[in-house]
Amino acid sequence: MKTNLWEKYSGEKRTEVESFCKDYKEFLSECKTERECIKFAIKEAEKKGFVSLEKLMKANKKLKAGDKVYAVNMDKAIVLFVVGKRPIEEGINIVGAHIDSPRLDLKAKPLYESQGFCMIDTHYYGGIKKYQWTAQPLAMHGVVVKKDGTKVDVVFGEEDSPVLAISDLLPHLERDDRKDIKGEDLNLLAGNIADEKEKQNKFKKYILNLLKEKNISEEDFFSAEIEVVPAGKARDCGLDSSMIMGYGHDDRVCAYTGLKAILETENPEYSVMNLLVDKEEIGSVGATGMESKYFENCVAEIMNLCGQYNELSMRRCLNRSNMLSSDVTAAVDPNYITPFNVDTDAHFAKGISFNKFTGSRGKSGANDANPEFIAQLRNCLDKADVTYQATEMGKVDQGGGGTIAYIMAKYGMNVIDAGVPVLNMHAPWEIVSKVDVYETYRCYKAFYKMPIKK
Ligand code: MN
Ligand code: MN
Repeated sequence: MKTNLWEKYSGEKRTEVESFCKDYKEFLSECKTERECIKFAIKEAEKKGFVSLEKLMKANKKLKAGDKVYAVNMDKAIVLFVVGKRPIEEGINIVGAHIDSPRLDLKAKPLYESQGFCMIDTHYYGGIKKYQWTAQPLAMHGVVVKKDGTKVDVVFGEEDSPVLAISDLLPHLERDDRKDIKGEDLNLLAGNIADEKEKQNKFKKYILNLLKEKNISEEDFFSAEIEVVPAGKARDCGLDSSMIMGYGHDDRVCAYTGLKAILETENPEYSVMNLLVDKEEIGSVGATGMESKYFENCVAEIMNLCGQYNELSMRRCLNRSNMLSSDVTAAVDPNYITPFNVDTDAHFAKGISFNKFTGSRGKSGANDANPEFIAQLRNCLDKADVTYQATEMGKVDQGGGGTIAYIMAKYGMNVIDAGVPVLNMHAPWEIVSKVDVYETYRCYKAFYKMPIKK
């Protein structure tokens, strides 16, 4: 086992880690939905000279080596691309992460009354432990789309504004810890002031009056996308400030580090791409998930603007590409050792974690990375002095999981899972080690310079 990474980043070197992580914490505090992540990515990309693919297509502008382009899919997924010196047909080095995180979504008809309260009904998204979402400050982030197409951005519960909450029972009223909360029990308390002018639904009416001031009607929730997330900011964690506690490290920590890496990549030999997608937590489905054709269509459009498109060239490109499926993995937890094999699982402060395969029960559903590709990666990362660990996720027949790796592997490209080890994964507040975050960013930067061998 390698030494603790804090040795590598002790003394003055710690400043690099702290300054990178300070920006990361700001991103995490600000971007709690897919749409907020996309807004952030566009802003940062434009600062670095990336141009919208849509704009380029409209102007029929050609692309050349060194040019930077981005394409946004329904405000919830983005492709960032830097054109390499070599023909795109020779392959792309891709870092792909997901920007959706487990949470509660508002139902399309969320408001109802019970026991003198106006309540908000939710449907959870992704794998959560339901009890973790009760009795703690929550916020609502999202968008309401009016019939005329105008959008109302919604953020309730951040800074000094009132938070939302899901109540939980006092211990005296139940004998055992209540770990069996049902999905249908996850309802937010919206308020309990009555609108006495009304005969019926007085409590709901009072809340609807408040929402009306923000140009939101009850019917508008049908064409809305509002996510219930933990309220508040990402913060340093531990007496030594070695960790970060925040909402959505899975997988925004890999999204952020990948984004940062491509923003700093100039004139690459081979083309590079950063892919930030939605819907991973529910199976990569839908128009904004990895299973959608959007990624492939983008590659075709970009090759076309480079004057390099034909069907065969594109297929060759996809086949020859390399990909880091950048997703977080479970770190060994000192409080819960049982599900882990401590010798083969990921540890904090040991660097970016590579899962050669994921899947479960005999690798079922896994993308099993090729040793030829891994050997090349080892060579590249060792030369760049990047610290990494070769890991699995939990004991055999106990752990496992899935990422977007197997979807990209369908093209015949080389793919391996690589990301930051996380504690409390899928809890409202997850924990990562700062040095692992920084090392992951360094890994992606080195990978973007790796020659493609296939
Ligand atoms: Mn993930
Ligand atoms: Mn996840």
